[in-house]
Amino acid sequence: MTRVLIVEDERPLRRALAMNLTARGYEVIEADTGTAALSAAANGEHDVILLDLGLPDLSGMDVIRAVRAYASTPIIVLSARTGSSDKVAALDLGADDYVSKPFSIEELLARLRAATRRATSLDGPRVVQVGTASIDLDAKTATGDDGEHVHLTPTEWHLLEVLVRHPGKLVTGRALLTELRGGPDHTDPSYLRIYVAQLRRKLEPQPSRPRHLITESGMGYRFQP
Ligand code: CA
Repeated sequence: MTRVLIVEDERPLRRALAMNLTARGYEVIEADTGTAALSAAANGEHDVILLDLGLPDLSGMDVIRAVRAYASTPIIVLSARTGSSDKVAALDLGADDYVSKPFSIEELLARLRAATRRATSLDGPRVVQVGTASIDLDAKTATGDDGEHVHLTPTEWHLLEVLVRHPGKLVTGRALLTELRGGPDHTDPSYLRIYVAQLRRKLEPQPSRPRHLITESGMGYRFQP
């Protein structure tokens, strides 16, 4: 049974989430402040955290920072804010994903399943399908549907590897640039756009309508298996 720590100060929403998740077989722990969240999180009796960013005492960002100091438990942000900057900041601090309010329970359940699946398969699969191409992460080879070797440059390979190792996860542009260049000072998103476009041309069945290497506008990229 998956145990979900729900951190949300808005009581009706928190209760609705708790009821919905309980009805679907999840075990639920509730917290209505950042402080309550941190003490519940420290108990460690949960597998995933649903976190509202606007809390009455601490900010959700503080909660992410504090939890990430000692645990890699998946955190899904419940964001009421429309702009992308808060979400990007939350992801960069170590949140795993977000849903924007209002969200459907089905959408939330899909994100919950993806986050807990990633957490339980830490090593991940060694061979990943990107459309019709097979990516062997150990052998570092890519094979097209015709069995032909697909040549990837070291940068393309690195970018692809970061994305496919986290299926379904939104990886921010900043996190990707840091991975590729080894430092946070490279902030030119056009660099990423070029490499993602190249990967799509090589791997996506229809590069102009990507289904696996997805752009999340203003935020980053997501590998959709
Ligand atoms: Ca709130």
